[in-house]
Amino acid sequence: MNQVKTGEVQPMHPDLELLLQLQHIDYDIGELERSKEYMPDMMNSLRGEIEVSGKAIEEASAELMDLTTKQKTCELEVSSLQEDLKRYQSQMLSIKTNKEYDALVTEIDTIKTRVAECENDILAAEERIEELNNSQEALASNAKTIAENNGKQLEKLQERIDSVGDKIAKCQHDRQRIVTQVGKPSLSIYERVRRGKGASVVVALKKRACGGCFKSVPPQRYYEIRKGEKVVCCDNCGRLLVHDQSSED
Ligand SMILES: [Zn+2]
Repeated sequence: MNQVKTGEVQPMHPDLELLLQLQHIDYDIGELERSKEYMPDMMNSLRGEIEVSGKAIEEASAELMDLTTKQKTCELEVSSLQEDLKRYQSQMLSIKTNKEYDALVTEIDTIKTRVAECENDILAAEERIEELNNSQEALASNAKTIAENNGKQLEKLQERIDSVGDKIAKCQHDRQRIVTQVGKPSLSIYERVRRGKGASVVVALKKRACGGCFKSVPPQRYYEIRKGEKVVCCDNCGRLLVHDQSSED
C-alpha cells in the first residue's frame, strides 16, 4: 500500500487530492472485506484452543479413572492369588510323591510370577496417578487462562464482525461523496489502474521515479508533477504520480 497521506503533499492537483482520499477509503473497504473472511477463521481457532485445553482435563480425568479401576482390579487379583498361594503352600505338607511336588512347585512359581507382574502394574499405575494428580491443577489453570483470554478476543472479534457491515456502508457513502467531486477522466484512470494494479494507484515519486514500477520520470514531467497543476500518469504502468517531499532526496 502506498504511504502517501492526504495533506502531506503540496502542491497537488485537486483530483489527485481527492483520489488519494479515495485510495485510503478503498484500502479500508478492502481490509474490511478481507476481515469478513479471516475473522471467522480466527474465531474458530480461538474456540479450538478452548476446546483442546478443556479436552486435556477430560482426558486426564478419564485416564485417572481407568488407572484407579486397573489398580483395584490388580489388588483384588493379588489378594486372590495370595489365597491360592497359601492353599498350595499348605498342600506342600501333605505331598506324597515327587511328581506331585514338582507340579505344586510349578503352580506356586506361576502364581508368584503373576503376583510380581500385578505388583509392577500397581506401582506403575500409582506413579501415573500421582503424575496426573499433580498436573490437574496446571491443566485447570491453563484451561481457565485460555478460556478467559480467548473469550475476550472472541467477544472483540464478534463486535468487529457485527460492525463490519456498518463500517463498509460508511466507507461506501464517503466513497460516493468523493467520486462525485473528482473529474471524470481522472476517476476513470483511477478505476482502470485499480482494476489492473490493485490498491496502489496514486503513488509518490521516489528519487524522480514512479513509486509503483520504479521507471524514471523525464525532467519535464517531473516538474509538471512538482507543480501539481496537471494529473500526470506514469508512462510505464499508468499510475497517478504525486510529489511527496518526504520521499524525495
Ligand atoms: Zn509506474
